[in-house]
Amino acid sequence: MEGRHYINGEWNTSGNGVIEVMNPATGEQVGTVPNGGEEEATKAVEAAAAAFPSWSKTTVYERAELLMKWHDLLLENKEDVGKILTMEMGKPLAEAIGEVEYSASFISWFAEEGKRVYGRTIPASKPGKRIQVNKQPVGVVASITPWNFPAAMMARKMAPALAAGCTFVAKPAKLTPLTAVRMYELAVEAGFPKGVINLVSGSASKIGKVFTSHPDVRKLTFTGSTEVGKELMKQSAETMQNLSLELGGHAPIIVLDDADLDLAVEGAMASKFRNAGQTCVCGNRIYVQQSIVEEFSQRLQEAASKLKVGNGLDEGVQIGPLIDKDGYEKSDRHVKDAVEKGAKVLVGGDGRTENNSYFYNPTVLVNASSDMLVMHEETFGPVAPIMSFETDEEAVKLANDTRFGLAAYFFTESMSRGTYLSENLEYGIVGWNDGAPSSAQAPFGGMKESGIGREGGQEGLEAFLETKYVSIKL
Ligand code: ADP
Repeated sequence: MEGRHYINGEWNTSGNGVIEVMNPATGEQVGTVPNGGEEEATKAVEAAAAAFPSWSKTTVYERAELLMKWHDLLLENKEDVGKILTMEMGKPLAEAIGEVEYSASFISWFAEEGKRVYGRTIPASKPGKRIQVNKQPVGVVASITPWNFPAAMMARKMAPALAAGCTFVAKPAKLTPLTAVRMYELAVEAGFPKGVINLVSGSASKIGKVFTSHPDVRKLTFTGSTEVGKELMKQSAETMQNLSLELGGHAPIIVLDDADLDLAVEGAMASKFRNAGQTCVCGNRIYVQQSIVEEFSQRLQEAASKLKVGNGLDEGVQIGPLIDKDGYEKSDRHVKDAVEKGAKVLVGGDGRTENNSYFYNPTVLVNASSDMLVMHEETFGPVAPIMSFETDEEAVKLANDTRFGLAAYFFTESMSRGTYLSENLEYGIVGWNDGAPSSAQAPFGGMKESGIGREGGQEGLEAFLETKYVSIKL
């Protein structure tokens, strides 16, 4: 597949040569995209700025119609888009198709929610005054997205931005740009006017510089690492851009002694091993109450040892390759460090590397302790360390002892213990007996160094709106 930029209503391949896109399961080339930089990014931003006045004045009903056409095309082509996604990213085909459906769910939800952007009138303290509060689209939006969800991360920014009346410039991840190209082809077919949607692939730092410094970009929305998020925040201080940052996480999973263990194992499996552990909301460390730690560990080991590892395009595969060598080495380093510090491997703890493909086996560790790397650095791999605790207060303390605050999970059948946990965990997303809480209708995002802002739900639309207060003197 030969990827292209989409700028001002035209496909093109300008830039400094091409970037090869590799299949992490085979080490073979899947295709290329042009290696764009400042010039392409600037043109895309200018096109989006030129299109903004007319797009922002269309009715939301017109915008919703276009979004729904895109939504329908995406679902009609979900196998095709899913296959590209698996080939460049590695996740099992069923998960990839699931990601395309999940992306479409953001498009339809925001097509509807866009119709409910309401203002307010406020009673004034002086006679003859009227106070109006109006909502307006923020302006040109630039988006930078990561490789682990190439479809969903872009869709959940693009859909609310377009519904709100913003124009859009996307930069997909270098490792997985082809899914975005295919999604743009479908969006073009849906009929978005010239300049409203733009796509530029290439050098992250060069394109990122244009996004953060160009005065016409009014909003930067980013998903990726905390380090890069901080860098972008510093850069965008110059232009005082509106920012949404979805950054790293280090999710705790807490299993209390009254938990339904079937639910807890199922939830921990879903949270830990989805996408081979390469999601920002993946459970990273599991805390289990002392009296049930043995039984839970054994059940998790049994479930993990049944997972089939391999090429995501092969039937029945549940764990694909890790994205690259660095990803593999990180899992390996975390496991070795844990074992050196006293952890025991119940299953996994090793992997297979060949032809530039890196498969790590689902791993369950017991006797984990807080001094281990895996207990405080984001692993981004299929490694589940289990540590025991005594009291609910201790579990909350352990869970909150991190600079991250994205997602946390706990399992309990008790209303009062669950309420205590949900109120005291310093996390933006809390799954109570639920290992997969994310959905288009709900606000997704982190506290602390996991970011700023929310995606999904009303908050996910608000992120693309400005508030204008109009004071009228009669
Ligand atoms: P991940 O670990 O998920 O790859 P990164 O933060 O490294 O997270 O990358 C997320 C996205 O940010 C990718 O699209 C990447 O190309 C882009 N990116 C990385 N460094 C920069 C930078 N300095 N400026 C702008 N974008 C960047």
